[in-house]
Amino acid sequence: MSKVVERFLKYVKYHTTSDENSNTFPSTEGQLIFARELAKELKELGLSEVEVDENGYVTALLPANTDKKIPTIGFIAHMDTSPDMCGKDVKPQIIENYDGNDIMLNKEKGIILSTSEFPELKNYIGKTLITTDGTTLLGADDKAGIAEIITAIEYLINHPEIEHGNVKIAFTPDEEIGRGVDKFNVKKFACDFAYTVDGGELGTIEYENFNAASAKIKIHGRNVHPGTAKGKMKNSILIGIELQNMLPELERPEHTEGYQGFYHLNNFQGTVEETSMYYIIRDFDKQAFSDKKEYIKSIVEALNKKYGEGTVELELKDQYYNMREVIEKHMHIVETAMEAMRSLGIEPKVVPIRGGTDGARLSFMGLPTPNLFTGGHNFHGKYEFIPIHAMEKAVEVIVKIVELYGKKG
Ligand SMILES: [Zn+2]
Repeated sequence: MSKVVERFLKYVKYHTTSDENSNTFPSTEGQLIFARELAKELKELGLSEVEVDENGYVTALLPANTDKKIPTIGFIAHMDTSPDMCGKDVKPQIIENYDGNDIMLNKEKGIILSTSEFPELKNYIGKTLITTDGTTLLGADDKAGIAEIITAIEYLINHPEIEHGNVKIAFTPDEEIGRGVDKFNVKKFACDFAYTVDGGELGTIEYENFNAASAKIKIHGRNVHPGTAKGKMKNSILIGIELQNMLPELERPEHTEGYQGFYHLNNFQGTVEETSMYYIIRDFDKQAFSDKKEYIKSIVEALNKKYGEGTVELELKDQYYNMREVIEKHMHIVETAMEAMRSLGIEPKVVPIRGGTDGARLSFMGLPTPNLFTGGHNFHGKYEFIPIHAMEKAVEVIVKIVELYGKKG
C-alpha cells in the first residue's frame, strides 16, 4: 500500500467531527487529539518548528535547502469533518479493480453507491476506490489533503536533490463550521502564498468561490389549547413554512449548479410556541449575494407586519467572500499549479467552488490561497469516496509545485 493511502486510512479513524453549537476552539476535543498525533508525526519526519498552538492549529516548516531567493509556500488542510453526517467509527472499504457496477456499501441497510446517481464512477473502472460502509462519511474531506501534504513533504525530505525554498504546512480545525481561520495567525505563518488541499476530483484547481452568509431565524408563536385556539393561536411552525415558501423555489441547492447561487434551509425545528430555522445563502456575484440577503430581510419584515413586530427574528452573518478578486492579482500561483499538473500528464480543470474553503478567507487576510484537488467525491455524506490513484497524483502535484518554484528562484 502506498504511503499516502496508509496515512489516509489511519487518519479517518480519528473522530474529528466539528460542532457548530460548541463555543470552544477547536469546537471538539477529538480535533485536538488528532492535532497532537499529527504534530508527533511531523516531528518524527524531521520537520522544524512543529507546533500545536492553544487553538489546535498544527504548523511546521520544511526549511529551504538552497540559498536562492524562493518564495515561501504554504500547504493547508483541515482536520475536522462535516457535522452533516456522522464521522465516528469510520470503516473504510477498499474496492480494488472497480468493475463499473453499483457498489454495495452496506448490505444490511441496503445502501448502494449507484452509477445512475453518480455516473462519475464510470471514470474509475479498473481503479481502486476507498468508500464508506454507508453509515458515516469517509473524511476524504479533508484527511486526504492532510495525508497528501505530509506524504509530499516526506518525498521532498527524501529527495534533497530537489531544490526548494521554505515550505510551511498548516492543519486547521473547524473549517466545516466556518471557523477554520478565525484564529489563524497569518503573520506568524509567514508565507508569500499558499494552497489549500481541500478540493474534489483529480485535476481540479479552484480560485473562485461563493460569497457566503448564514441566516438564523427564530419565530415566536403563541400556544393555546387547540380546542379554544380560535383567534388566539399563533403557530410558529406554520409561519416558518410560510417563510420558506416565499423564497424562490428554484434557488435551492438541488436546482442550481455552476455559477448559480441559492438559499439552503439546513435545519428546521419547531413547536407551536417556537421555531428555529437555519439557512445558508450563497452566490458568486457580489451584487446577487447582497440582493439575496436583502430579499430574506424583506420577507422577515413582511411576516412581522402580518403577525406582529418581533414574531420573526433574523440574524444575518457574512461568512466569507469570493477569493477571485484577491487571487487575480497573483495569477502565477494558479498558473504554476496548472503547469505542475500538465507536466504530470494531468489536464487542469478550473472550476468555481460551490462552497468556501479556508483559502477564501485567508486570501482576504493577506495570504492568497487557491485550492488544489484531493481526488475525493461526494463530500459530507455516506457516498463519499476517493480513488487511490488521485491521491497519489495529488502528492506528485504538491511536490512538483515546490520543485517548479525552486527552479524559478
Ligand atoms: Zn473540506
